Amino acid sequence: METTTLTLDEVRSLAKAILTGAGMNDAGSDVLADLVCKSERDGPRSHGLRMLPVYAQSFDSGYANPDAQPKIEQIAPGVLRGDGDNGYYQIIGAKARAQLIDMARSNGIAAFSCANTHHLGALRFDTEPLAEAGLVALGVVNSLSMVVPHGGNKPVFGTNPMSFACPREGQAPIVWDQASSVIALMDVRMAAAEGHDLPLAGGLGLDGQPTQDPNEILETKSLLPFGAHKGSAIALLIEILGAALAGGTLSVDNAEREAHGALNVKGGATLIAIDPSKFGNATFNEYVNRICAEIDGNGEARVPGDGRLNKRASAVADGVTVSTELLSQLRDLAGAS
Ligand code: NDP
Repeated sequence: METTTLTLDEVRSLAKAILTGAGMNDAGSDVLADLVCKSERDGPRSHGLRMLPVYAQSFDSGYANPDAQPKIEQIAPGVLRGDGDNGYYQIIGAKARAQLIDMARSNGIAAFSCANTHHLGALRFDTEPLAEAGLVALGVVNSLSMVVPHGGNKPVFGTNPMSFACPREGQAPIVWDQASSVIALMDVRMAAAEGHDLPLAGGLGLDGQPTQDPNEILETKSLLPFGAHKGSAIALLIEILGAALAGGTLSVDNAEREAHGALNVKGGATLIAIDPSKFGNATFNEYVNRICAEIDGNGEARVPGDGRLNKRASAVADGVTVSTELLSQLRDLAGAS
C-alpha cells in the first residue's frame, strides 16, 4: 500500500477543512478535528482520518446536526445530564468536562450522562483528561446492534466500548478502552477497505460460523462478544449504563440511521468521575504504582493502554503515515467542500 507522511498539524488542518466545509460550526469542528488528530497520533487510527467521510455524510444527509448547541443541566449534586442537540458526543463531552471535574472534586463522585448524540469515536479521549485532572474515570457508550449475545442468533448490543483511566504519580495516566466485541466495527471496515483478513475470527460468516473475513462479517452484521458469556454481560451493562440511563438510542433502534444511509450511529453515553482523594486512602497513588509495577516486567505483560504512549511519541516526532489513496479522497472532499 502506497503511503504519505503527514505531520499532526497537517492532519488537524485537513480534518478542520473537511468538517467546516461540511457545515460544522467553528467550535464543534475544532473539537472534532482535534480528536481525529489524536486518534491518528495515539490510535485507534480507525477513528482518525477515515472517519471524516462518515462525519461529512452524516451532515449532508441531515442525520447529524453540524451546528449543535448542546445543553447541560445539573439535576442532582452528583449528576450532570446532557442533550447533545443531535450533534457529535465529543462536543458536549468537551463542554461538560470542567463542570464534571468540579462536581467530582466536591462530592467525591459524579457522573455525566447524555443522549441525543452521535458516535463518540475512541472513548479513551473522554476519560484521559479526567485522569490528567487527578480523577479516576469510567466511560461507556452504546452503539449500533452488531453484537450477538452469547448463545443468541441475532445482534442486540452495539460494539459498546468502555474506557477506564486513572492517574499514575510521576507518569502519564493509565488509560485503556476496548469494545465489547472481539474486534471493533471500524477495524472490520478498515480491514475490508485495505483488503486483508482480520487477525482473528471476529464475527459470523455467511455460513453462520466464525470467520476472519471482514466482508462476510459486514454482510451478516454479526460480531461476536469478547470472552463468550463474560463479554456479553459487559455489553449488557454498557447498554444499560449508556442508553438506558441516559435515555439515548438503543443499539437495536437504528431505523433513522438507515433512512439517512449513514454509517455513524446514535447512542447514550455515561462518564463516571471519582476523586480518589475523597475515599480515605492517603496512599492511593502508592497502591496504583505498586499494581502497575507487578504487571510491568511480568513476562510479556504490560499495563493496558501504555502502547498509546509509544505511538504518541513516534507520531509527534515523525508524523503519521496515511494511505495515499485515502489521502487523495480526503483532499478531494476538502476541495469539494
Ligand atoms: P483493542 O483491542 O485494540 O485495544 C483494547 C485496549 O487494550 C487498548 O487500550 C489497548 O491499548 C490495550 N492493549 C492492546 N494490546 C494489549 C496488550 N498486549 N497488553 C495490554 N494492553 C493491551 O481495542 P478495540 O478494538 O476493542 O477498540 C478500539 C477502539 O474503538 C477503542 O478506542 C474504542 O473506544 C473504540 N470503539 C468505539 C465505539 C463507538 O461506538 N464509539 C464502538 C467500539 C469501539 P494499547 O495497545 O495502546 O496499549
